[in-house]
Amino acid sequence: MTERRKLIAGNWKMNGLKADGLALASDLAGRLKGAGAVPFDLLVCPPFPLLFPVGEAIKDSPLALGGQDCAPKTSGAHTGDVAPTMLTDAGCRYVILGHSERRADHAEADALIAAKAAAAHKEGLIAIVCVGETEAQRDAGQADAVVSGQLAGSIPAGATAANTVIAYEPVWAIGTGKTATPDDVKAMHANIRATLDGKIADPAKVLILYGGSVKPGNAAELMAVENVDGALVGGAALKADDFWAIATSC
Ligand code: PGA
Repeated sequence: MTERRKLIAGNWKMNGLKADGLALASDLAGRLKGAGAVPFDLLVCPPFPLLFPVGEAIKDSPLALGGQDCAPKTSGAHTGDVAPTMLTDAGCRYVILGHSERRADHAEADALIAAKAAAAHKEGLIAIVCVGETEAQRDAGQADAVVSGQLAGSIPAGATAANTVIAYEPVWAIGTGKTATPDDVKAMHANIRATLDGKIADPAKVLILYGGSVKPGNAAELMAVENVDGALVGGAALKADDFWAIATSC
């Protein structure tokens, strides 16, 4: 069996000002330092303006930093966009791409997400590529096909287990308090790993995270599911106690 180290990622979304972000990140960095060897990697993905101060505050800690998006370009006349180089400059190792909120709010399609991931890879960033079906698609029995299609379209050439993480986030479970059942998660993660065969070198080593209302109360059960290699956490990542409880339930 391939050993995969769990990744617990906090997606802060559009939450927090500088003081909040610094307090949360410093608290987590302190817990990580105090805990010594842990069986997981811990990642925080603050909003763009907080990347530099948070990056500076945690630079001597194993707490990793990530962006929530990046442009598919390195520089130039792209008002409002943030280049992958700017993320690494702030200390990021990761970037979340293709989150369902970006797919829905900004009409991001698979091809754009693949281009962003390719640009992120070029800069040495690990791309966390998000996929997931809507409730209507699940009810229509299309969940596997939708997720396989998103994977086929969003993963760029050159993706490897070292530069790409997949996050399965059923859209209907995000921020709703509903989670997929462990059986559904197991089936979908197995489908994802099978789909990665031929798309990514070393598919058995790719981390596949689950996301969607992960909380301290359900984390242990979800993290124990076969092929679940960590969590992408939204709401519960905004409180150090909750996020730490999720991570330490691995
Ligand atoms: P949630 O968000 O944990 O608040 O459901 C997860 C996500 O969107 O990444």
